[in-house]
Amino acid sequence: MRRHSFFVLVGILCAAFYWTMGNAAAFAADRATVGLPTSTAKTNPVRAGQSKTTPADAAKEPAAGKKAAPEKRGRVAKEEPIIRVGLAESQASAVLTCDGAYVFRDAMTSEELGKRAAGAVSTVTVKNRRFAVDGKDVSAKKIRFAIADERSSRFLSVAGEKYRGTILLLLADDGTITVVNEVKLDDYIGGVISEEMSPDWPTEALKAQAVAARTFAAYSLGKHDDDGYDVCATTCCQVYGGIGSESPEGLRVVSATRGEIMTYQGKPIYAAFYASSGGMTAGSEEMGGTALPYLQAVRDPQDAVAPNRHWQVSMSPRELASKLASAGVSVGTLKAIELTPLELGKSAADRYPSGRVKNIRFIGTTQKVDISGPKLRWIVGLPSTLLDIRYGPENKTAPNTKGKIEISNQNAMIVFDGYGRGHGVGMSQWGAYGMAAKSKYRDILSHYYRNVDVTWLF
Ligand SMILES: [Zn+2]
Repeated sequence: MRRHSFFVLVGILCAAFYWTMGNAAAFAADRATVGLPTSTAKTNPVRAGQSKTTPADAAKEPAAGKKAAPEKRGRVAKEEPIIRVGLAESQASAVLTCDGAYVFRDAMTSEELGKRAAGAVSTVTVKNRRFAVDGKDVSAKKIRFAIADERSSRFLSVAGEKYRGTILLLLADDGTITVVNEVKLDDYIGGVISEEMSPDWPTEALKAQAVAARTFAAYSLGKHDDDGYDVCATTCCQVYGGIGSESPEGLRVVSATRGEIMTYQGKPIYAAFYASSGGMTAGSEEMGGTALPYLQAVRDPQDAVAPNRHWQVSMSPRELASKLASAGVSVGTLKAIELTPLELGKSAADRYPSGRVKNIRFIGTTQKVDISGPKLRWIVGLPSTLLDIRYGPENKTAPNTKGKIEISNQNAMIVFDGYGRGHGVGMSQWGAYGMAAKSKYRDILSHYYRNVDVTWLF
């Protein structure tokens, strides 16, 4: 896996895995995991499951009444890239079918290996480290399944899910099968967008999300090269479910922003996003990465529309000490916590420019330790690092006014009192929702991503 320039924070749910990874994917994981629904609100930005109620035909629908924007005069027609999406690895077999006639070929030589009628099922297995299709040996190391008539609106299915494009099966070194969907980039974005933002959200927010998701994909091309594909279909990259994940509104915004990506100095940017900023976004350096000119801390008043934006997580000093100990940070009995009081947009020795926690000090009977904000978030399981602490008897906790809390009563409560959900770097989805009432998607993008150009990848 290619190393990216970031060393970043982890998603709460995937924390143990991502903590050591130190690559850009952690942003994506954070975005997707922290943004999971916390209530049954219809407007939650991230959908829990894949929509199955999605007519695919809308894909071909042109954006109604759209005229070319003036900037398009400089657009150079380029071919739409194909992205290779890893759907599954380490499979003993793969079962494919199609609603039209289909063929399979040696992907190296293009030699046709077989043909099947509409509805016929092909089962691919591995025998003696060679592929077999329906029990018949084939010598190819890579097999590509494709619709026989490429102009027809027919789709291949693998493991019961329909996909646009072709399906490539790779024979891995360990004799198992890797399943890859080769799909045009915007067809891929069509299968991603409604996983990342609910299609009933405002159109301009959805368009901003489409450009961010496309930019993220362009940046990620080749990320999983070692495994034989570009991106995976999980929160590690972006969640993708093929045609089953599409929605008519999602496809409309993908089409309306066709090919658009954000670049900085001519290259696709790291278009991170997450659920809610809590009032101010984070600079990329706040997650332990390099300070990037396009990922700066900016005030985000429109994020105020986010539900559950203010949160509290309470526990006894004993519980907190035990969480620290299980993460390898044993302090004995917790005696005090030091943290400069939170002021939005104000840095301190232990706070970043947005006000997010840089370091928090825990003083116990055996030692005192400083823990980074992202690590605290992971250890305790907090929605964000834009937080302060409170302490006192249950239901009567007092705010942190002195920058230090002395813990005299082990039965009292420590409250992590914070704002926003997610890492805070890049676009707040709820902020985009709020901005969409008055702003166009390009204004939303230039609010969250500074100094970038919106250009056409194709
Ligand atoms: Zn991935």
